[in-house]
Parts: sequence; C-alpha cells; structure tokens
Amino acid sequence: MRQNPNMSNSNNSFIKRCMNLQDHATCFFKLLCKPHIKEFLHMDKCCALIDKYILVGVFIYFLRAEFGVEDYSTRNFYIALYLCHEIYEEVNSLKFQIAKRCLGNCVRNRDCVKRFDEDRFYLLQRMNFHVIYDKSHCNLIFSRFPHVVWYRIRSDVHHGVIVDEDKICSACKWPVVSNLKLNKLK
Ligand SMILES: [Zn+2]
Repeated sequence: MRQNPNMSNSNNSFIKRCMNLQDHATCFFKLLCKPHIKEFLHMDKCCALIDKYILVGVFIYFLRAEFGVEDYSTRNFYIALYLCHEIYEEVNSLKFQIAKRCLGNCVRNRDCVKRFDEDRFYLLQRMNFHVIYDKSHCNLIFSRFPHVVWYRIRSDVHHGVIVDEDKICSACKWPVVSNLKLNKLK
C-alpha cells in the first residue's frame, strides 16, 4: 500500500506516544489559526459547512488516527472534514466545496482527486474505520478543552435535511433545508 506522504509513519511513533490529549488539542487549535483554514471558517457565515459538531468530529478523527504534530496539516484537516461530511451530512455541493478548498484549481484534475481519495482512505485505515461519534464524545471534548470555536452554531436555515441543493441561502450561498417553512412555523 502506498505510504501517505502527508501523514507520519512509525518513525515518529515515539513522538506520538509522547503526545497527550492536551498536546493534541493545542495542535488542533493552532491548525485552526492557519490563514487558509481561518479564512474558510470565516467564509462559512452560517456554519453550514463547519458547525461545532462537524469541527469536533475532525478533531476526534485526528485523535483516532493517532496523528503526530506534523500530521496537523491543512490538507489533513480538509480530508477529515470531507469524511465527517460523508458520514453525517451527505450534501454533494458542500463536499465539493471542501474538496475545492483543499485542492484548489486541481479539483477537476483526475490525478489530484485520486490522490485525495487515497488519502481519505488512508485516514480511514488509520482510524480502523471507526467513523461514528456521538454527542457524548463531542460534549466531552467541549468541556475538557473550552475554546471559542465551539460556539459555531449552525443557522436554522441549514439545520435539517437538504433535498434541493439549488435552494441557496442569501447570507452564505450554501444550500438551505427543504422544509424551511415548516421549521419556521414550529
Ligand atoms: Zn446560510
């Protein structure tokens, strides 16, 4: 199997063993401050792409993959984010936005997409395909590592099942839920 150049191998297993949860959290919050990611978070006005539950999912995936310091990269962030969306969201246009953000102009290049898919699969393997997390996992991280990013609450217009991806939010331009009128009446 191809060794993923973007993720560390057993050579740094000693470093990985030395990382405690606090170290991982520090690496994660530092990663969120990188301009490429910070700008993406800022662009996502309604938290349609990255609300606190999706964001903490990325962190949980990083933990499960036993990432080392050098694995806390922007590319791995988008790969884990894409995976969270595959498991919990399944809105194609949002997944495409994540891939586009990660790959840039390469997003329509077959080889780039293939490498992205391989890296995604590699992450899955490192996590032993353990992709499910629930609210109790999220709340544990929220309480143990308080941070302003956990205030990312998704706007109601994006909260629910999105059937028609052409119905767009005027604030963020991402798709809105299809039963919006029903939600507003509640
Ligand atoms: Zn919106």
